Amino acid sequence: ITFSDLGLHPGILQAVAATGYTVPTPIQAKAIPVVMQGRDVMGAAQTGTGKTAAFTLPILQRLMPLANSSASPARHPVRALILTPTRELADQVAENVSRYSESIPLRSAVVFGGVDIAPQRDALRRGCEVVIATPGRLLDHIEQKNVSLAQVGILVLDEADRMLDMGFLPDLDRIVRLLPQNRQTLLFSATFSPEIRKLGRTWLKEPVEIEV
Ligand code: AMP
Repeated sequence: ITFSDLGLHPGILQAVAATGYTVPTPIQAKAIPVVMQGRDVMGAAQTGTGKTAAFTLPILQRLMPLANSSASPARHPVRALILTPTRELADQVAENVSRYSESIPLRSAVVFGGVDIAPQRDALRRGCEVVIATPGRLLDHIEQKNVSLAQVGILVLDEADRMLDMGFLPDLDRIVRLLPQNRQTLLFSATFSPEIRKLGRTWLKEPVEIEV
């Protein structure tokens, strides 16, 4: 199986090829078609398996019909929200999203704590279809009304086990309550502990389980 077999848009395929990937990793081969179908996913995958591209590529594919070159922030509501436990991971995911969407008029922004909030606020207010965030700083932006999550159709919980370990459950709960019920949710975790399974039952709908 190759990336072209997966039915990805030529612009995305070109970015994948430019990155130097030729063969999808096992989690990519399993997850990309399922995410493209719009199904919820519980993915058991460690860092290093290629899980970032496994969710970013099909998300960008699903957002393609919404891509537009308008300057108006109103034309760029947040459609996909990717939550990560740390700023390092948020940055890494954001780099992937930027790279794969280089030739597509979709905007993204990354927000995390420990740095000046103003540039993040400006980026959010310009409008962006994809937001990559750590939970606490995202809630700060929500409180400041820098961002609306009312049109989010895709939620990703990346390294969900680490987010629980770091005590983010109350923050995650507050964020998920602000999202439309009618959405696609992807949860990635190194292991499926009872706590993670409980999150899956609460926030996902008939998820496809993928293990690598
Ligand atoms: P991740 O698990 O998403 O952190 O990815 C781990 C590493 O594998 C990163 O350095 C990626 O650039 C790389 N990678 C991801 N997918 C592929 C692929 N299909 N072929 C080769 N390398 C990849």
